[in-house]
Amino acid sequence: MHATTNSHLEPWSRLQFLPGVGPSRARLFEKLELHTLEQLVRHYPRTWLDARRFVPIAKLEPGEMMTVRGTVRHAAALRTRGGRTDFSATVEDDSGRVHCYFFGQPFLARLLAPGTPVVLSGELDAPEGRMLNPMFEVVDGEIEELLHVGRLVPIHALTRGLSARALRKAVRSALDAVADRLPDALPKAVADAQRFGSLAEALEHIHFPPSEEAREHARRRLAYEELFVLQTALALRRRALDETGRGLSHASAGTLAARATAALPFELTADQSQALEEIVRDLAAPRPMHRMLLGDVGSGKTVVAALAALHVIEAGHTAAFLAPTEILARQHARTLESMVAPAGAASAVLTGATPAAERRAIQKRLDAGEAMLIVGTHALLEEKVKMPALGLAIVDEQHRFGVRQRASLAAKAELPDVLVLTATPIPRTLVLAGYGDLDVSRLAVVPSGRGRRVTRLTGEEKRPQVIEFMAKELAAGRQAFVVVPLVEDGSASALRDVEAESARLASHPLLHKFRVALLHGRMKGEDKQAVMKAFAERQVQILVATTVVEVGVDIPNATLMVIENAERFGLTQLHQLRGRVGRGEHRSVCVLMPGHAAGPRARARLQVLVDSDDGFAIAEKDLQIRGPGEVWGTRQSGLPRFRLADPSRDDDLLVDANRVARTLVEADPWLRNPAHAELRRALERDYQEAVELAPAG
Ligand code: ADP
Ligand code: MG
Repeated sequence: MHATTNSHLEPWSRLQFLPGVGPSRARLFEKLELHTLEQLVRHYPRTWLDARRFVPIAKLEPGEMMTVRGTVRHAAALRTRGGRTDFSATVEDDSGRVHCYFFGQPFLARLLAPGTPVVLSGELDAPEGRMLNPMFEVVDGEIEELLHVGRLVPIHALTRGLSARALRKAVRSALDAVADRLPDALPKAVADAQRFGSLAEALEHIHFPPSEEAREHARRRLAYEELFVLQTALALRRRALDETGRGLSHASAGTLAARATAALPFELTADQSQALEEIVRDLAAPRPMHRMLLGDVGSGKTVVAALAALHVIEAGHTAAFLAPTEILARQHARTLESMVAPAGAASAVLTGATPAAERRAIQKRLDAGEAMLIVGTHALLEEKVKMPALGLAIVDEQHRFGVRQRASLAAKAELPDVLVLTATPIPRTLVLAGYGDLDVSRLAVVPSGRGRRVTRLTGEEKRPQVIEFMAKELAAGRQAFVVVPLVEDGSASALRDVEAESARLASHPLLHKFRVALLHGRMKGEDKQAVMKAFAERQVQILVATTVVEVGVDIPNATLMVIENAERFGLTQLHQLRGRVGRGEHRSVCVLMPGHAAGPRARARLQVLVDSDDGFAIAEKDLQIRGPGEVWGTRQSGLPRFRLADPSRDDDLLVDANRVARTLVEADPWLRNPAHAELRRALERDYQEAVELAPAG
């Protein structure tokens, strides 16, 4: 537009030099972390308002994204009981009116005063017929023009004092000034291979898309860039570990493992044998292993881990098995000990509950570098426990194993091999997105020979039958879990729900002769342990629990699980929960009991579990329905936050980015090739740690 007047500007120029911005407005942009022109053009719209398809308000349909144009009538800020201030407004056109509700946005009162002409875009919420948090634009001259040409209007994240219009204008002039001079993290060869257009075009089209197709094309290029930079960081990190020469080689004849295998009451499945082979190959190699063993609940990961540990012990090192909780550490210790003992290998369990004298004795053995299996919680790594001969760390449940713990391993002189066991059936694409630097072994087949498990979806009206069935199972000597979703927020009312549930069961005429116990996250460790012990020893028949039973608990005699308000859980979580039953020889049942509020959509979602028992398939479905952010809370899973990439649908981009990044790092591990200079710069900006790890040139 004004390219000539802007010709002195560079991508790194500060925003205050952009015509129409100036120092005081620049300070507003800084609140959005926008300091330079480059940052501004990289401030992608949150969404786009479709100004090409208006409907009369009377024609709004629930559940569909629609755009209307009208005038604000009533508007009010509302204080909620929780202390938040929401905003509500009614918008009217010739055909009717629609009610809008905005959570926690009281400042809208100034923007959307009665009489203001607006464009709204959103979905009508089914039961109440309101629009919740719709996108909106106040119609002024500029919008009038945009609307007039009927296009996609970008909606950017704003801050107080900065109008949508001012921001759009600034983006427009920044694009005009520097779009064709921006550093492109994608090497040209990579962009060409994907048949992407120029970066300038992608940025133009992401902010001001001439069509949906153009926008999607632009999104894919920019998404690929995010994925590619991440995959390069992971490849560098991986390579750095390989190059340290600090790995241990555990070559053993496998005598102990063979002895233990012979003592097992079953044959290994083909998947288990293959996974073990892959692990043993890594153990023998001098570079540090970094492998994830992925397998559905009950797929038999523990035995694979035990056999791997025996290889390391035979080679003269300590193997550590780290569980996420105290309960699980003790339970795993029992199982693992029963597996390694027949081979004549030593083992011990060390947790927060271990008495001081015993703790000292164990520490002494570890200090002496005894080749043994030590089982504990993740705290083993963090605390003062020293394991000078640590050769293998087996980490159960990656999701609770933080980056910090991983780093504490790297701090040791020699890097132990790491095997991560994950029961969460992470879809392949997410494994690549989050753990592209790990190798993966999979146990796809669950060993046969166990009791069958069925899942039923019922409703409140069937509760008497469910109780009757429970009474029958318990009378036959079986046990039951009742899972109650509890927001573990420490609120007293949430806890009362669980307590009420267990009291109701305990006093039910059909159940009063059985013992009910309660297990929830706010209980002290020792109390939890006592309850689990009583349940394992069958002194308790019904265990009412919040999701603390989610991971790993093994009670083969439990044959019934009732999940209350099942719609509040994710599919993957439900699948993990039901994995707690069907572990013994008896036929088991999992009953999904949706709450009153659950609509047909929620029931349809739960039906997926009734129809499928394949954890990976369920995880893929969950991902499609809820998106990766919901399924794998970013913080929890260690997945990076993408801006435009969406691992649930950018499968193809992800796979390609992973492949190309690995090849590139292989060929140019120092990123010295001038064609990779901008890639290196992007890495320095976004993934400092990976660059530091890269072999110094
Ligand atoms: P995961 O840790 O993957 O959830 P586990 O290792 O706890 O699974 O195994 C679940 C159950 O299956 C255990 O009781 C275990 O003894 C049994 N199991 C493991 N491998 C086999 C196999 N190959 N054949 C039969 N049963 C097996
Ligand atoms: Mg397990």
